Formats: sequence, structure tokens, C-alpha cells
Amino acid sequence: MKQSVKLIAGNWKMNGLGASLVEVEALRRALGDGPAACRVALCPPATLVERMAAAVRGGAIEVGGQDCRAEISGAHTGGVSAEMLKDAGAGLVIVGHSERRQEFGESDLLVSAKAEAAVRAGLAPIVCVGETLQQREAGQAVEVVRGQVMNSLPHAVTGRDFAVAYEPVWAIGTGLTPTLEQIEAVHRAIRAAMIERLGLASAAAPILYGGSVKPDNARDILAVPEVGGALVGGASLKAADFLPIIRAA
Ligand code: PEP
Repeated sequence: MKQSVKLIAGNWKMNGLGASLVEVEALRRALGDGPAACRVALCPPATLVERMAAAVRGGAIEVGGQDCRAEISGAHTGGVSAEMLKDAGAGLVIVGHSERRQEFGESDLLVSAKAEAAVRAGLAPIVCVGETLQQREAGQAVEVVRGQVMNSLPHAVTGRDFAVAYEPVWAIGTGLTPTLEQIEAVHRAIRAAMIERLGLASAAAPILYGGSVKPDNARDILAVPEVGGALVGGASLKAADFLPIIRAA
């Protein structure tokens, strides 16, 4: 991933049936198949990865998973491995989303193992970090996020793509966003931690901002120094909402 090319990734979460692929087809038509100004990815539920990959084949939209197991295969009922996502046509995978950290108690150690699994399978992990409201109000945002970056990243990225997504937990799905200054401060701290942890090999990996990115705030957020793209939840479900965010990059 080149730092100058922003990555706009959509996270459909547990939304979308086969009929929802009309949105992807609309997005593809609107973007055209020529060179794009930014990278665009959509992460549908695992059930749609293969069909979405088929729908965008030959075009500019990339497809990703929303989570993966750390293991390649085995007795893990309901689990989906990074290799399975790759086989279904994914090129990326989100790991460590705060909903998984909260609902499934995922630790930094597990997130790091999942990021390693993604790299092993040839997927670019998007490693999510972010503080809770309580941590933000206690003045601990930078410290918490720095700790997550130091402990959740894969061990080696040489020759591999990856991204970090800064998603304040209190901004996800709430319509609330940090100030642009707060976003910049955390993104700078993330960059410093990435370089400390992985060396200069990580300097070109984008740091995405996520949390209530909408058509009306995308341009300002994407112009913040060190913001290398966006991870978009609700506003990625409809092409009409996602397109203006892509165009703002
Ligand atoms: C997300 O789930 O990663 C997210 C950023 O959601 P939303 O854009 O809806 O806040």
C-alpha cells in the first residue's frame, strides 16, 4: 500500500443478502473500471465474499473479510480461516474490530495471531484499535491505542500489505466523531508506535480513521495529516452514501 493512495474500506458487519449485491454493481458502474484515485474495498459477511468477489472481478473494487480464525483449519465449528477467505476471493481482512474485542473478548494477543494468519494466507490485515469513551474521558486515549498497536500487529510485514484502523469505540455507529485535532494526535501516535514496533517497513502502511464517517464529514477527516483512508460502517451499505466518501479521498 502506498501512503499517498488512500484506502476507503466498507465494513458491512452482519448486514447483506444476495440481493444487496445490487449496491456493489451500482458502485462498480459509478467508479468505472479505469484507474482509481484511491483504493476501494468492501468487507461483506463471509457468506457474500465469494459472490461479491465474482461481482467485482476485473474491476477496481477489492473484497475483504470481517474476521478470521488464527488457525488454518480444524475443529472450530463456525470458524472461517484466512485461507478460506483468500480462496473465496478476498484480498484483505479486518481483525480486532472493537465489536469483536467487546462481544467475543478478543485480546491483543489473539488479534495479533489473526493478523499473522492473514499475512500467512496472503491477505492484507486491517488491524483495528481504539479507545472507549471512559478511556478517552480519563485522558488515556493515546496510551490505550499505543498499547493496542504494540501488541496487536503481526510480527513481520516485510513485503506484505497491511493497514491499521483507528476506530474510537464511542464513535462507531453513534454519529459522534473526535475533533480533527484529536484524530491527528492519535494517528501520529499510531505511526510512531508502528515504526517502533515494525521498523520503517511499516511507514508506508495506511492508518485509516473509522467511526461515523459520512458523506458530509469525509473530506475534512481524509485531509487530516496521517489519515490514509477510512473504514466505513453504516455509510458503506448503500452505493449512494459510499460513493461521495470515495470521491472525497
Ligand atoms: C465500523 O464498524 O467499522 C464503523 C466505522 O462503523 P460506522 O461507520 O457505522 O460508525
